[in-house]
Amino acid sequence: MIDRTCSFCDAQENEQNPIIAGNGVYICKNCVTSAYKIMFGDEQVTDDTNKELVTEVTKLMTPKELNSFLGDYIIGQERARKLLSVAVYNHYKRIFKSDKNDDVEIEKSNVLLIGPTGSGKTLMAQTIARVLNVPIAITDATSLTEAGYVGEDVENILTKLLQAADGDIQKAEQGIVFIDEMDKIARMSENRSITRDVSGEGVQQALLKIIEGAEVNIPPKGGRKHPNQEFTTINTKNILFICGGAFDGLDDILKRKQGQNVLGFGHDKKSKDEQKPTYDMAEPDDLVKYGIVPELIGRLPIIASLSEISEDDMVRILTEPKNSIIKQYQKLFDMDNAKLTFEDDAIKAIAKKAITRKTGARGLRAIIEERMMDIMYELPEYDGYEAIITKDVIDNGDDPIYIKNSTIKTA
Ligand code: ADP
Repeated sequence: MIDRTCSFCDAQENEQNPIIAGNGVYICKNCVTSAYKIMFGDEQVTDDTNKELVTEVTKLMTPKELNSFLGDYIIGQERARKLLSVAVYNHYKRIFKSDKNDDVEIEKSNVLLIGPTGSGKTLMAQTIARVLNVPIAITDATSLTEAGYVGEDVENILTKLLQAADGDIQKAEQGIVFIDEMDKIARMSENRSITRDVSGEGVQQALLKIIEGAEVNIPPKGGRKHPNQEFTTINTKNILFICGGAFDGLDDILKRKQGQNVLGFGHDKKSKDEQKPTYDMAEPDDLVKYGIVPELIGRLPIIASLSEISEDDMVRILTEPKNSIIKQYQKLFDMDNAKLTFEDDAIKAIAKKAITRKTGARGLRAIIEERMMDIMYELPEYDGYEAIITKDVIDNGDDPIYIKNSTIKTA
C-alpha cells in the first residue's frame, strides 16, 4: 500500500484512520468527522447513529403488527392495546423518521394507563419493550422522592434503565420507563378525602423534568449523588414514559362531570347504569382535579383505560396467552416426562377464587402456585403419568387424579 497523508492534517493513513482520495487531495476519517460536525453540528452526528440503532432493532412495526403481538400475551383491553400501539408507533417514527428541518415538531406520545390492579398495565409496557427489543425500567411512583429526601431519587429510574441497557447509553436513551402507582403521588385536592403524602407534588415536579426531555446526570451505579462521583449524562428526549395507576375515586369526578353535562343539556334523568361513568371518559381536566399537576398531564397526551378482569377473561388468561401460567406448568411437567391436564371446572374454580381476591389477574398465579407446590414436590416420582387437576384439587386441596399414560414419551 502506498503511504498516503491527509491533505488537511498531514496524518498518515492507518487502519483506524483510513483515507479517501479525491482529485489530487486526500482526507482522513478524523477530518471527515470534524468537517461533518462543522457543517451539521454535533447533534446530527449522534442522531444519525441513533437512528441506525433503532431502525435495526425495531424495523418500525406498524400499529397493527404491534397490537397483534400484544394480543398474543394480553387478553382483552382491546382499546388500550390499540391506543398504546399507535402511541408507540408514533413515538419511534418521531425518533427516526422526523425531518430536523421541518417546522412541525412532533411531540412525544407518553402514555397514561388507568386501570385497576392486576389488569395488565405493567404487562403491556413489558410486552411492548420486548417486541421492540428496547430496555425497560419499571418503578413505583410511591418509592420516589425529590432529591435529598429519604427514598429513591427520581433520577434513579434512569440508572435502572441504563442497567437494563447493559450500560449502553444510546440504547437506554431509546428505552421505556414504566412508572406505576402514579395516582398515589397526586397532590392534596379538596375534591377527595384520601390522605396522601404531601411530598407528592414535589415528586411530580421532579418527574416532569425528566419526562419532558432533559439532559440528566446520573450516577451510573445508582445510589445518592455525591460531589466526587463520576456521572453519566442521559438525554431523556426520546425515552418513552408509560405511567400507570388505578386512580380509585376518579369515577366520582367523572360522575360529577357527567351530572353537570346531563343537567346542562336538560336531559331527562338517566337510569343508574347509563350514568355509570367509565374511565375511558377521563380527560386531562379530570386528572388535574384528581391531583396530578397540569404540566405533567400535558406531557402524558395518550390516556388509555383498562377494565377490571372479568371471570371469563380470567379463564382466558389462564389458557390463551403464549406463555400462560398453565402452559408454563405443563412445560415443567413435560420436562419430567409427565403430563398436566386441568379440567375446565378446575380452571373456572381458579378464576372464581381470583375474583374474590380483588387483585385482578395477579391472584391467578398465587392460587395455582399454592395448589401446585405439593404436586411439584412429588412430580419426579410420577414419570410417565398424567396428573389431572379437578375442581376439588382447587377448592378442597384434594390430590390430583394420576393415571399412567402410555402416550408420554420417557427419556
Ligand atoms: P397491573 O400493572 O395492572 O397491576 P400486571 O400487568 O402487573 O397488572 O398484571 C399482573 C399479572 O397478571 C401479569 O403478569 C399477568 O400474568 C396477569 N395479567 C393481568 N392482566 C392481564 C391481561 N389483560 N392479559 C393477560 N394476563 C394478564
